Amino acid sequence: MTSESRQVDTDPDCLFCKIVAGEIPGDLVLTTDHVVAFRDVNPVAPTHVLVVPRHHRPDAAATTEADPEAVGRLVAAAAEVAGREGLSDYRLVLNTGPGAGQSVFHTHLHLLGGRELAWPPG
Ligand code: 5GP
Ligand code: ZN
Repeated sequence: MTSESRQVDTDPDCLFCKIVAGEIPGDLVLTTDHVVAFRDVNPVAPTHVLVVPRHHRPDAAATTEADPEAVGRLVAAAAEVAGREGLSDYRLVLNTGPGAGQSVFHTHLHLLGGRELAWPPG
């Protein structure tokens, strides 16, 4: 790991940037050069993990615009966590905008599993 690879775009007021930086604690389950995954503080399923890019962007579209491979890395990391948790079936969610339930404006992929998940979602 070079120090250069740890240079990330951050927002000093962003909760998830602070977790990525280790400034506030998170229950980390996976870290790579590109992503950090940690358990949701208010889980809605037995497994509820948030997978975030290290670079601050407000949503998945902005993350993809900056780096077309970034969301794929989030999905790959979520699949790895799901495998570790013994989940064959799980749901990945990217809430985008307050009307869709987004409350933290740092791109994050929800990994949900460990119970039956109804469709359509609420
Ligand atoms: P959103 O509603 O933006 O899609 O998801 C944000 C998620 O972040 C929510 O599920 C919420 O429970 C979680 N969250 C909010 N604050 C914290 C925190 O300080 N730590 C952790 N681990 N999760 C948080
Ligand atoms: Zn951020």
